[in-house]
Amino acid sequence: MTYIFEPEDRVALSVAGSEQCFPVRRIYCVGRNYADHALEMGADPVRESPFFFCKPADAVLTDSKEIPFPVRTNNLHHEVELVVAIAKEAENISVTEASACIFAYAVGNDLTRRDLQGEAKKAKRPWDVAKGFDSSAPISSLMPVAQCGLLERGEIYLKVNGELRQRGDLSDMIWSVDEIIAELSTLFVLKPGDLIFTGTPSGVGPLQIGDTVECYVEGVARTEHKIVAGR
Ligand code: MN
Repeated sequence: MTYIFEPEDRVALSVAGSEQCFPVRRIYCVGRNYADHALEMGADPVRESPFFFCKPADAVLTDSKEIPFPVRTNNLHHEVELVVAIAKEAENISVTEASACIFAYAVGNDLTRRDLQGEAKKAKRPWDVAKGFDSSAPISSLMPVAQCGLLERGEIYLKVNGELRQRGDLSDMIWSVDEIIAELSTLFVLKPGDLIFTGTPSGVGPLQIGDTVECYVEGVARTEHKIVAGR
């Protein structure tokens, strides 16, 4: 059997200090995993737990210094997040088993068409068009756990044109990374190549064409992208 057309190459992330790359399988994302962000979105972090949504694997933007401004939005928002890269299959695992599945960390930007998300929330519709658009997941190269160790705390921030917009600490997460992996593994079989965006601290806001956006997680990576006109 042959394909009726050539399949696209697998999206892959470079690995710091290595010639090898990490093939991306799925992208899971956690919503409202920092209390201050839940509050700024009008949610109650005491009464509502974090939750999951997905982005398509080919939404990853890697090895680019530019983010194309997406179509059909007038309100593109930034969300800086710690990204966890999985390299071990996991099904229904416990919190204590979770860290063994982590291969590496990265810093990512969960770009969001906030106006379309607002419409979806109002109409009780899914978030795909708000969250899963093309190039909606800029991600740094991966920092292997073998190099940086397991992270429990560390500064996370985002700057726009050099101005601090989001700042928090990984220890502020409502669900820890291990709790996220354990919970996700009860809903899906996690496999090597899966990425998890672990939620954003408060301070989300709009990006305009011409802006420079810097994302940082202490000990992991720093990225810088310029927002450019899209198609
Ligand atoms: Mn997010």
